[in-house]
Amino acid sequence: MSTYTLPDLPYDYSALEPHISARIMELHHSKHHKAYVDGANNALAAMAEARDTGNFANINRLEKDLAFHLGGHVNHSIFWTNLAPGAGGTPEGEVAAALQEFFGSFDAFKAHFNAVSLGIQGSGWGVLAWDPVGAQLVIQQLFDQQGNTAQGTIPILQLDMWEHAFYLDYQNVKADYVQAFWNIVNWENVSQRFDAARSGAASTLLIS
Ligand code: MN
Repeated sequence: MSTYTLPDLPYDYSALEPHISARIMELHHSKHHKAYVDGANNALAAMAEARDTGNFANINRLEKDLAFHLGGHVNHSIFWTNLAPGAGGTPEGEVAAALQEFFGSFDAFKAHFNAVSLGIQGSGWGVLAWDPVGAQLVIQQLFDQQGNTAQGTIPILQLDMWEHAFYLDYQNVKADYVQAFWNIVNWENVSQRFDAARSGAASTLLIS
């Protein structure tokens, strides 16, 4: 059985300052993300035990646990690589053209993405994703770690709107956190994810 492991960050905990503090990054990566990895592995192990014993009494809870924790692992693995020190600015090339095509302009895309992220009721994520059925980019509100998105859409750019992602730095002023996010978006990573999603590459989610 395959198990999940906590990936290293591609930069130091302090690298995204002043936009995200080293303290948040350390807690977020080494504690929160680690807990999702452990939770997904625990759910898989418990499911294996259920098959071995034939006791599926807890299977509904285990399925929820797997969706939540594996969702958390995938979401954070994408999020870390969506960010980079000294990044931000505006996208170029095919990503820029696609944002214009599907959202009207880069500014309209940003306004839509900001509204989606700030509007989440409870914990969740703002997500730019590729929908292979309509062959188009869509913006989604991901609830918790696993809800409110269509099967098959492929995340390209994600913003963590859980309070653990910003509260130490921004308290209740979510809008300042969302504004700071645009200063550290790694458009090169977004571009690689966009290319992989459109080509149907099997390793789409693993780009780092
Ligand atoms: Mn998080």
